[in-house]
Amino acid sequence: MKPVCVLGNGQLGRMLRQAGEPLGITVYPVGLDAEPEAVPYQNSVITAEIERWPETALTQELARHKAFANRDIFPRLADRLPQKQLIDSLGLATAPWQLLSDIRQWPQLFAELGHFVIVKRRIGGYDGRGQWRIRPGDETELPTDIYGECIAEQAIPFSGEVSLVGARNESGDCVFYPLTHNLHQDGILRASIAFPQENCHLQQQAQNMLSAIMHELKYVGVMAMECFIVDDHLLINELAPRVHNSGHWTQNGASISQFELHLRAILDLPMPHPEVTAPSVMVNLIGTDINNQWLSLPLVHLHWYEKEVRPARKVGHLNLSYSDKNELKDTLRKLIPMLPPEYQSGLEWVQEKLN
Ligand code: ATP
Ligand code: MG
Repeated sequence: MKPVCVLGNGQLGRMLRQAGEPLGITVYPVGLDAEPEAVPYQNSVITAEIERWPETALTQELARHKAFANRDIFPRLADRLPQKQLIDSLGLATAPWQLLSDIRQWPQLFAELGHFVIVKRRIGGYDGRGQWRIRPGDETELPTDIYGECIAEQAIPFSGEVSLVGARNESGDCVFYPLTHNLHQDGILRASIAFPQENCHLQQQAQNMLSAIMHELKYVGVMAMECFIVDDHLLINELAPRVHNSGHWTQNGASISQFELHLRAILDLPMPHPEVTAPSVMVNLIGTDINNQWLSLPLVHLHWYEKEVRPARKVGHLNLSYSDKNELKDTLRKLIPMLPPEYQSGLEWVQEKLN
């Protein structure tokens, strides 16, 4: 098997490495500052766990490398401006938006987008960072240097958030997981749940949207599409050209995890449809120290990233996958007292979904 180099050595690179191991695929997650000579990239397929990167000796080398999967697609998706333009050009539904380039636009923005607008940095935002929620009057508090660097989006009164994780290979074949239902709090993903039998109508809508995007880009690998549910249709929130937090449940809830699927796609290995036979839950561990008590629950799979624990930092996740919904609910009930109080509402949201 060809080795794989992953640009970035955070948790996604780590989980790609773990997924490659049983298949005999050596995955090297590499930090941006690594010495190019120390990285075996010459004979590897290259992928990334991040969407943009500064120029370093290593990234300059990789930018020229032919075996860098999706090399020229990253800049189109890492910047919200060309990403939104791509979605519009394909006629796919997304939250109405405009480029925010001048403070004098505000009266017209409120008139066209409504009186609740979300300003998002074009580049570099994540986990809700680099965003401002603006109602008339708040705009004066925005930093002045953001003009030109942000888009303004209509705040969508959604009934729920879902994401679709899928993959496309070199020949253009696409496979998808069932939609994942996601709960975000303060812009950060707290919990996800997926079911083997998803609402056919939304699933089909999402698959049509994501395949159109992947085909247009001739994308190879796993891509995630985050959506808002409004009535019975989907609006695209954003796209991620990589494995995604909302797909972490697939490690324990699908016959092929999103990490293995990504490796298969970029190495052009067989890529059958991943089977999902039971409901799966993922709980993000955010700024919380490890607690061995979690391991006393037989349905809990702990994925710990071995990162320094800091507030608002994703440091691990818990996966639970089981065919009996009542057993799952029972485990979630037992988990609540084993986690800090801020987890309670997220776990209750999951329990509600299992009803
Ligand atoms: P990620 O960590 O997924 O990359 P992010 O920080 O890049 O997230 P978004 O996904 O754009 O940012 O926004 C984070 C969350 O904020 C969304 O999941 C959603 O809950 C809320 N949000 C974002 N845009 C809107 C919108 N237009 N209307 C309503 N809520 C929104
Ligand atoms: Mg997001």
